[in-house]
Amino acid sequence: MNLALDNRALLPLTPSPEELHVRESVRRIVTSFGPRYARECFDAGIAPSKLWAALASHGFAGVNISEEWGGGGMGLSMLQAVIEETTASGGPALMFVVSSGIAGSVLERHGTPEQKERWLRGVAAGTMKMAFAITETDAGTNAHNMRTELRRDGDGYLLSGQKTFISGVEDAGAVLVVAKFRHPDGELGAPCLAIVDVDAPGFTRTPIAVQYMWPDRHWTLHFDDVLVESDRLIGGEESGFGPLFDGLNPERVAIAAVANGVARLALEKAVAYANGRQVWKTPIGAHQAVQHPLAKAKVELELARLMTQKAAALYDAGDPAAAEASNIAKYAAADAATHAVDAAIQTHGGNGLTLEYGVSDMYWLARLLRIAPINAEMVLNFVAQHSLGLPRSY
Ligand SMILES: Cc1cc2nc3c(=O)[nH]c(=O)nc-3n(C[C@H](O)[C@H](O)[C@H](O)COP(=O)(O)OP(=O)(O)OC[C@H]3O[C@@H](n4cnc5c(N)ncnc54)[C@H](O)[C@@H]3O)c2cc1C
Repeated sequence: MNLALDNRALLPLTPSPEELHVRESVRRIVTSFGPRYARECFDAGIAPSKLWAALASHGFAGVNISEEWGGGGMGLSMLQAVIEETTASGGPALMFVVSSGIAGSVLERHGTPEQKERWLRGVAAGTMKMAFAITETDAGTNAHNMRTELRRDGDGYLLSGQKTFISGVEDAGAVLVVAKFRHPDGELGAPCLAIVDVDAPGFTRTPIAVQYMWPDRHWTLHFDDVLVESDRLIGGEESGFGPLFDGLNPERVAIAAVANGVARLALEKAVAYANGRQVWKTPIGAHQAVQHPLAKAKVELELARLMTQKAAALYDAGDPAAAEASNIAKYAAADAATHAVDAAIQTHGGNGLTLEYGVSDMYWLARLLRIAPINAEMVLNFVAQHSLGLPRSY
């Protein structure tokens, strides 16, 4: 059987020369900004846009997007490698997740040729950065309860409602907003996806104060009858959950890649410290009590990386099994990152909490990934119901 002619997703177990080259280039660019770039941006209150521009100028913002629209044509499989390498090199990667990963994937699969010309080209080039807004205060994890609505107004629509915890809007040109279409009979329909410029009249935002995770800021968004022209709807008035999940599955893979990069960086720092620090007769890394949590985190990390690569390959092949794999990858990677950062902090002793060593800088980011974009419990609900065939529990 000729596997190359088969549509099945295939997973290479060693990176191609192309992937090694991409990883090496990403690492070189990110490290050229210095190990404290993300924290420096945060302290200065600025977005990490210089790093993004440097990565985008080498084509990395659109590695997953097809060449027809100016991307690299290398799929989610390469995007996850770029994200992991960026994060493992200490760089922030939010725009890779929300703009390249979510908006890029949704536009690629569901945009019209005109929409692709207008937005996807910019997303692929990294010149159009798109944030993503689904979360609402009262709906939370239960997206079915969202209330942000689009109602017809002449040739277009008016958008009204509120979103919360939306990341990176300060650095974006537009937001991909999930809303529901309000039928003329007053009923709210299925979800639909609309592109809204950040400076659209009636669109305002207020910041939410959170722990340091990356330089990006997080916002509550207010839409007060924002005019949305009909060509800003991706997939039509009631595109439903299909196009949405063509954005959410890549988001889970991208977030898993963030977590894998965080775990790699935490382990790298911990091993260097454990080999160099000596308070008894040997370096502290010689104690099994120091080694084992790090070794266990390494085992978890490698399992998570494998699942992340599998999920990306399935998504690239258009295989519906990508949904289960993306959820499992995100769950496993978030746990691996949390354990790796915790073990790295313990290894560093008091220095684990200093800003100088940069280990605690990763704590809240790793911890966030067990909650967002989908919490660990909802992943287990998904696996219990869809993979195991148990009754829906909620
Ligand atoms: C820093 C940050 C950045 C974010 N960025 C974005 C963004 O850019 N765009 C965006 O749209 N959203 C964003 N979010 C929102 C994030 O996706 C949500 O916080 C997350 O989906 C959880 O929703 P919630 O906070 O409303 O928790 P809730 O839905 O209130 O749930 C709280 C907890 O209850 C438990 N739980 C809930 N339902 C169940 C159930 N059925 N079974 C078992 N346990 C359950 C879980 O433990 C969960 O953590 C961000 C959040 C944060 C904190």
